[in-house]
Amino acid sequence: MIERTVYTEEHEIFRQSVRDFLAKEISPFNAQWEKDQMVSRESWLKLGEAGFLCMQAPERFGGLDIHDFRYNTILTEELGLTGCAGPAVGYPLHNDIVFPYILHYGTEALLEKIVPGCVSGENILAIAMTEPGAGSDLQGMRSTAENKGDYYLLNGSKTFITNGYLCGGVVVAAKTDPTKGAKGISLFYVDANAEGFSKGKPFEKVGLHAQDTCELFFENVKVPKENLLGEEGNGFKYLMTELAQERLVVAIGAIAQAENALQKTVQYVKERSAFGTTVDKFQNTRFKIAELATEVQVGRVFLDRCVELHNDKKLDQATASMAKYWLTDLQYKVAEEGLQLHGGYGYIWEYDIARAWADSRVQRIYAGTNEIMKELIARSVLGK
Ligand SMILES: Cc1cc2nc3c(=O)[nH]c(=O)nc-3n(C[C@H](O)[C@H](O)[C@H](O)COP(=O)(O)OP(=O)(O)OC[C@H]3O[C@@H](n4cnc5c(N)ncnc54)[C@H](O)[C@@H]3O)c2cc1C
Repeated sequence: MIERTVYTEEHEIFRQSVRDFLAKEISPFNAQWEKDQMVSRESWLKLGEAGFLCMQAPERFGGLDIHDFRYNTILTEELGLTGCAGPAVGYPLHNDIVFPYILHYGTEALLEKIVPGCVSGENILAIAMTEPGAGSDLQGMRSTAENKGDYYLLNGSKTFITNGYLCGGVVVAAKTDPTKGAKGISLFYVDANAEGFSKGKPFEKVGLHAQDTCELFFENVKVPKENLLGEEGNGFKYLMTELAQERLVVAIGAIAQAENALQKTVQYVKERSAFGTTVDKFQNTRFKIAELATEVQVGRVFLDRCVELHNDKKLDQATASMAKYWLTDLQYKVAEEGLQLHGGYGYIWEYDIARAWADSRVQRIYAGTNEIMKELIARSVLGK
């Protein structure tokens, strides 16, 4: 195996502390959380207490002021390696997908009000871009935020929102000027207790059973001016800026979950007997495992390089899109082949590979579908 060179000894000490924490506070509860369709609020508080939420937040708000993305990566990787995909999606979304919008574009008044809760786990974050009629084509969104002087009046609905049911606050994309296309979109932080804001029940999904994905509804919600993120009309620009990290975060989870699925499969085929031997002795099994191990190794090296680039602020959109598309496809392939090598047991929910298979499917859909990723890559290679 190629040695990983991205991490120092300090990072590895941190990794061990994350691993110990997850083994004690996350993995034992996942089966129950799958039944509940959400992780517990307590788990968020425990993560906060351990210092694993919004590590990049300034110290004056209780954060650790850590701007080395490798620490965030380690947390996402270790979550992926637990095989608990619901938690592996929800916590990194809070830390590395939603929180950056608040940190980079929030007013000082907003930061003071909400960041301590984001760090402690009391305030769970979500981001709402997708609408029933607009997913890939975000410019087609219909939610509006009308400027009323002291506040914005928000109307519309959003769907498929990760952390939606538990969230205390959500970053919402809405049109402040419906005549201006992308330049008419703005971003707001909306408090979940605001009058006129309601949530649907968590969806019954194919996978990610411990993830509280739901619809959000906004009916004449008064959003204070100080909750506008950045400048009015610049929302689409901010989305395009921050989406590279979102895609990288999904790719980090994907390679870790692929590694986990491969490891579970290797363990299984060594133990399972058929025709007087174990399944790992059949040539088909050996070739499949060899192929998957090779692709996972290729993916790991590429991902580590992307993390390095991102840490140096040099990861471009097209490369982040390559990582998202290729590694989530790989994750699905490893889970699918791994399930086949488990035979009938692979189809039984209590087997990790069954979960890995169901959980992997959506990775190719959210954070921009893999078709959209290919479109972005093609634009960078071929031009528009
Ligand atoms: C479990 C889950 C969690 C999610 N979490 C969030 C969240 O937290 N926040 C949020 O805002 N959204 C979230 N989403 C929404 C997700 O990002 C969208 O589902 C996704 O962007 C696709 O949009 P859509 O579902 O409307 O599909 P559509 O855009 O209708 O796409 C349908 C099909 O058409 C293809 N297609 C569309 N346009 C093109 C094109 N130009 N070229 C080629 N093919 C194209 C797509 O690739 C897809 O195969 C989540 C979704 C799921 C399922």
